[in-house]
Amino acid sequence: MSISDVLAEYSRIQQKNEKETARRRNEVYTRVPQLKTLHDQLEALLIARPKLKLRGEPDNSDQIKALRQLSEALLAGAGYDAHYLDPIYSCMLCRDTGLLEDTTRCECFKKRMLEDKLDTARLTDDAVSFEKYDLNRFGTEPLENGKSQRDMMARILKICITYADNFPACSSILLLSGGIGLGKTYVSKCIMRRVIERGITAASFTAYRLFSLFHQHRLGEDVDLEPILEVPLLIIDDIGTEPMTKNVTKEYFFDMINERSTAGRKTVIVTNLPFHELDERYGERIFSRLMDTRFSQKILFKGRDIRY
Ligand SMILES: [Zn+2]
Repeated sequence: MSISDVLAEYSRIQQKNEKETARRRNEVYTRVPQLKTLHDQLEALLIARPKLKLRGEPDNSDQIKALRQLSEALLAGAGYDAHYLDPIYSCMLCRDTGLLEDTTRCECFKKRMLEDKLDTARLTDDAVSFEKYDLNRFGTEPLENGKSQRDMMARILKICITYADNFPACSSILLLSGGIGLGKTYVSKCIMRRVIERGITAASFTAYRLFSLFHQHRLGEDVDLEPILEVPLLIIDDIGTEPMTKNVTKEYFFDMINERSTAGRKTVIVTNLPFHELDERYGERIFSRLMDTRFSQKILFKGRDIRY
């Protein structure tokens, strides 16, 4: 999708909102026909105003004001909000044009362009959410310090909900680690969904795909890494399963984590690897960043594989 596609999207939004405004007007006029007459009068007065001024005749502003007050009173009398008939804008900042008054791009435009570049990486399955999370899938028999897997998962869930609800006031990195089949990816998708529902752009990449992009970029192929650096929440799933190419992809990984942290963006990393293997695989620089409690919050999943 190009800029013109994004602009076409604005035009669709404008049309949709205009349609809704027209529908509201019809609805109100059917219920309160007096308002239709009143608005026609108001319209005529507004059109006449500049002419009166030109001719030096008495101003009709008082009449306009009185009709507006009457209109508001009639609306309120019929149980409508005073702004019910105002034009509707999905973005009040740019009035759905994508441009601000100083002709710079509105934030909503930047968000749309970014989401477009991220494409499918930002889509999530509707069935995956904290609301639909089923703790009953986990056993109740004590595993560790009298705590069952269900107890441990309930605690993890609480931490992850807090993370998503407080976003972006949360740690730069959230590391979800533990054995296979403990539901880490699912939890990461729940975080993603909650953050998206809060109007923030998020994307999820498997480590395999992400490292392939790094590799292609390294080879000079036409790969745009900007969206990966810019997206406010990035989920990287299954770190440790991707084929390690050259050391250089490790450098990309470190730079990406670093740049995102510095810019206040957050990264959730999901891995089956034990901590010591993260150290061996990605090296000391990345490992110490992941372990540094000033940047990173770690959650260790324990228990039995729930897929069987
Ligand atoms: Zn806007």
